Amino acid sequence: MKKFQKIRGMHQVDPNDSEIWSTIAKKIIQIFESYSYKEIRLPIIESTDLFLRSVGEETDIVNKEMFTFESKSGKSLSLRPEGTASCLRASIEMGLTDMGPSRLFYHGPMYRYERPQKGRSREFYQLSVEAYGFDNINIEVEMIEMSFKIFSLLKLRNFGLEINSLGSDETQKKFSKALKDYLYPLKLELDEDSQNRLNSNVLRILDSKNSTTQDILKNAPKISDFYDNESVNRFDQLQSKLVEMKIPFSINKNLVRGLDYYNDLVFEWKSDELGSQNTFCAGGRYDSLSKNLGGRNISATGFSIGLDRLLFSLNKNKEHKFKKRLIVIILENSLFLEGMKISEKIRNEFKNLAVRYDGQKSNLKSQLKKAVKEGYDFAIILGSQEVKKGIFSFKNLKLADNQLSLSEEEIIKTIKDYI
Ligand code: ATP
Ligand code: MG
Repeated sequence: MKKFQKIRGMHQVDPNDSEIWSTIAKKIIQIFESYSYKEIRLPIIESTDLFLRSVGEETDIVNKEMFTFESKSGKSLSLRPEGTASCLRASIEMGLTDMGPSRLFYHGPMYRYERPQKGRSREFYQLSVEAYGFDNINIEVEMIEMSFKIFSLLKLRNFGLEINSLGSDETQKKFSKALKDYLYPLKLELDEDSQNRLNSNVLRILDSKNSTTQDILKNAPKISDFYDNESVNRFDQLQSKLVEMKIPFSINKNLVRGLDYYNDLVFEWKSDELGSQNTFCAGGRYDSLSKNLGGRNISATGFSIGLDRLLFSLNKNKEHKFKKRLIVIILENSLFLEGMKISEKIRNEFKNLAVRYDGQKSNLKSQLKKAVKEGYDFAIILGSQEVKKGIFSFKNLKLADNQLSLSEEEIIKTIKDYI
């Protein structure tokens, strides 16, 4: 019979790897919460229009990468390619944006129809924050500092921050014109997408991954030549705060991000360990999105961490602590209840210990061998003679030849010493 396979590019995690996913996600969420960000839960399906209007019709995400389908009633719906638009849509709908500044976070899968490769899949996991109603650059500073703290606590290596300012709407208009004037004579040398974008959305060309286009862009006009005073001030202030806080950064004048809605600051955290898909966290300010979505004129800033890529760059680092595991083995079926009791006692004593008990006698040697292979840390073995005396065999499976005969209390004390 035909066996089913996962759909290409979808996200599926082996049970042996899932612990690192949830452990890292939990650590990140704890940090979001410690900065008083509150979780908002959002749907995975939205109306396609929401993304046309927010992410932008001429972006790769909307143009080529959306999973779009028709509902039974004929409406065009899409799996969310990102969360920023949904989060603001929901906040406007719930009235959150009328109630003063707010800090929100959410996490979950996003969907983009891209060519699957290392660090790029069609279903991927993001953890994101958004803050509404904060005009001044302190919120950008907070977000950069918070993300820096997350990556430092996770002991990420070889990573760095790139920043750029996209200036105001006016700046973007003037710069777009200058860029178009520069690129027009070179049109035929550009990649096909960029040629199309010359007329529709010229700024997007800066985001092209094509190397010839990138080379041509090296001599193009720079957005910084078109900043107004306010944007210059904001960008200067941000940089001096980062210097004061000893957060290293570099300015990348071609950083525009793949979405249309940004103004002023945009930033990306990149890792040298990731190859060409090297950005694992990205964000910026997007003050016009709320109005574009029919809401009030409210300023907004946010960033997203791509968990898949973050984990790639953490994988070589084994310092993360995971749940310890213990197995309870009985040598006689008549000891079923005794095994159950000690398992329950240990579970109640140690919230961070996974206790496995199968309730059936089995071959001790092969059982222990399997437990070691599966990464168990401890084993408790119950034999009828010992149980009568209130004693159990305790093995630390991470050490060779380590078997002790201990009482229940002694076992608990010994485990405490290890975890
Ligand atoms: P890229 O230029 O790599 O396509 P992007 O600008 O499209 O990235 P964003 O929309 O800013 O990405 O998403 C934020 C983060 O989400 C990215 O930095 C990345 O870590 C992650 N991400 C985006 N697309 C994918 C994908 N297809 N697979 C895995 N992670 C992704
Ligand atoms: Mg992309």
